[in-house]
Amino acid sequence: MSEVIIGIDLGTTQSAVAVVDSGFPILLADKQGNTLTPSAVWYSDTGEVKVGHEALRRSGLEKVHTSVKSLIGRRAAESGGRLEADGRIKTAAGLKLPEEISAEILAELKRVAEHRLEATVSKAVVTVPAYFHDGQRAATKKAGELAGLEVVRILSEPTAAALSYGLDRLDESSRVAVFDLGGGTFDVSVLEMREGVFEVSATSGDTELGGDNFDEAVACFAAARLERDLEGLDPMERVQWIAEGRRVKHVLSEAEEAIFRIPFSGEVPVSREIFLGLMKPFLDRMESCCRRAMLDAGVSGEDLAAVVMVGGSSRIPLVKERVARIFGQEPDLSQHPDEAIARGAAIQAGILAGTVREVLLLDVTPLSLGIETMGGLMNVLISRNTTIPCKAGEMFTNAVDGQKSMKVTVLQGERELAKDNWELGSFEVQFEPNRRGQARVGVEFRIDADGILSVLARDVATGKDTVIEIGSAAVDVQEAKVEQMVSESVEFAFEDMNARVFEEARLKAEELLPAVGMALEQAGGFLSEEEIAVIQDARNRVERAIGDRQVAELKASVEQLDEVTESLAAMLVQKATDALFSGPQD
Ligand code: ADP
Ligand code: MG
Repeated sequence: MSEVIIGIDLGTTQSAVAVVDSGFPILLADKQGNTLTPSAVWYSDTGEVKVGHEALRRSGLEKVHTSVKSLIGRRAAESGGRLEADGRIKTAAGLKLPEEISAEILAELKRVAEHRLEATVSKAVVTVPAYFHDGQRAATKKAGELAGLEVVRILSEPTAAALSYGLDRLDESSRVAVFDLGGGTFDVSVLEMREGVFEVSATSGDTELGGDNFDEAVACFAAARLERDLEGLDPMERVQWIAEGRRVKHVLSEAEEAIFRIPFSGEVPVSREIFLGLMKPFLDRMESCCRRAMLDAGVSGEDLAAVVMVGGSSRIPLVKERVARIFGQEPDLSQHPDEAIARGAAIQAGILAGTVREVLLLDVTPLSLGIETMGGLMNVLISRNTTIPCKAGEMFTNAVDGQKSMKVTVLQGERELAKDNWELGSFEVQFEPNRRGQARVGVEFRIDADGILSVLARDVATGKDTVIEIGSAAVDVQEAKVEQMVSESVEFAFEDMNARVFEEARLKAEELLPAVGMALEQAGGFLSEEEIAVIQDARNRVERAIGDRQVAELKASVEQLDEVTESLAAMLVQKATDALFSGPQD
C-alpha cells in the first residue's frame, strides 16, 4: 500500500480531515462520531490542552482561543490588539504564537486520522484561503510541522472546493466561481481550468463577514426587543445569547419562524422577514465582493460553467437566493457545505500520493443498476456503461400513510420490470411514520474504484443512514450473461415498455380513484346528475381497463377521468376557501 497523505481543512471556525479511500474522498470522524472539529483550543495554566468540542465546552467560563486562523502569519499591528507586540497570544499557559495554537488543532486531526486509519500519518495537504500571502502560508506550514505533519502542499480553499466539485464535470478551459461563506469569513473566487489544472484568476472576500455576524445580529435584535444591551451582558451570558442567536439562525434555514428564548429573560419570535432585514447589510457586502471578483476576472455570470457554493452559511436560503441573482444562474449546491474543502484536500493528497491517478483509467458498469419501485418497476440509478468510480442518488417517498419502513431492493439489468432483472441484495430502511408522500428517503449508489457497490439510504428527516455493501457483483459479470441480458432487453422491448406504461397508469389510477370517490362525497351535491354520471362512467372505464389489463385503454381512461374531475377539484378548493372566509361553523 502506498503511503497515506491526509487532507485537512483548517477552518476559521471548524476544521475537518479527509482521506481518499478506494477512489472516494471521505471525512474521518473522531471517537464521538463528529466529522467537524471546532477550531477552538483551551489551555490550563499547567499546560494541559483541550481541542474542539471539549475546548468549546469551557467557553464563557474560561479563555478559549477561537478564530486563530485570522491571526496566523500576521503582525501585531494588523491584529486589532489580539496579538502582543511580539506577535504572540496570551494564553493561560503563557505566550504562544498563532501557529503553535493552530498546531494543536492539526495535531488533534492527525490523531483522529490515525485512530480511524489505524496507521501512523506523517504527511498532509492543508488548505488556506486564496488571499493568504506568503507569510500566512508559511506560518500554516509551520503549524503542520509543529503538529508532526509534513505539509506536502498548501492548497487554496477554492481550488479544493473545485476539485471536490469534480474535474470530470468540467470541460477543458472552463471557468467556475467558488462561493465560500463560513463562520467568520467570506471568500469568493473565480477559477479557470487549464490543462486539467485550476488557476485562481480572481479572488475577493471579507475577512470579517460570516455566520458569526449573523448570530450576533440575531442576538442583538432579540436583546433590543427584551430591552437588554448585548454589550452590557457579562461574558458568560453574552456567549449564551449569541449561541441562542445561532440556534435561531439555523432553525430559520428550515422554518419560516423561530423563537429566541433565554430562560428568565424572555422570548422573541424571529421571522424570516425580520432575519432578512438583519441580513441585508451583510448580503450587500457579499454582493459587492462577488461583483469585484467577476470584474477582476473579466467574466460575467454567463461565462461561468458553475457557481459552487460551500461553507456552512451557504445553507441560508436568503444567501442562496442572493447568489442566484448576482450570478444570474442557479448556484451548484451539490457539494456538502462543511465537507467540500476537506474532500478537495484529500483528492489533492491522493493525486500526490499516486492513489487517485489510477482511478482515472477505470472500467465502466457492464449493466444498469437501480432499485425496485412501486408497481414492481426498475428505477435505474446508474446506467450501463457509466465510468467507475461513480455515484448517483435519488429521493423516494412512502406509498402509504403511517408507513414505518421501506424495502430497498437493489437490481441489476436492462429490463423494465424488476422481476426480470437480477436482485443483488435488499434491505429495510426505517423512517419516521408519516403521511403518504411525506417521508423522504434518499438512496445513493456508489461504486468505488475497485468496483465495490455500496448502497446508502438516508431518512432525510432524521439523517439516519442505512448502508449495505453489495460487493463487486455489480461489475464482475460474465460477458455471456451481459450479452444475454442486453439482447433480451431488446427482444422484449415492446412487452417491457407496455408493462411499464400499464404499471405507471395503474399507480396513477389507484391514486385517482379513491380521491375522486372522496371528492364526490364532499362536493357531489354541487354537481348536476349529468355531471355525476359522466364522472361515474369514467371511473367504471378505468376499473374495467385495470381488470382487463388493457394498456392503451387504461392510459386513455385515466386521462379522461383526470379531465372530467377537474371541475370537481376546483369546486373543492372553492369550498375550502369559502369555509375559511366564512369562519368556523358549528
Ligand atoms: P469556517 O470555514 O469559517 O470554519 P464553516 O464553513 O464550517 O466555517 O461554516 C460555519 C458556519 O456555518 C457557522 O457560522 C454556522 O453557524 C453556519 N451554519 C452551519 N449550518 C447552518 C445552517 N443550517 N444554517 C445557517 N448557518 C449554518
Ligand atoms: Mg471554510
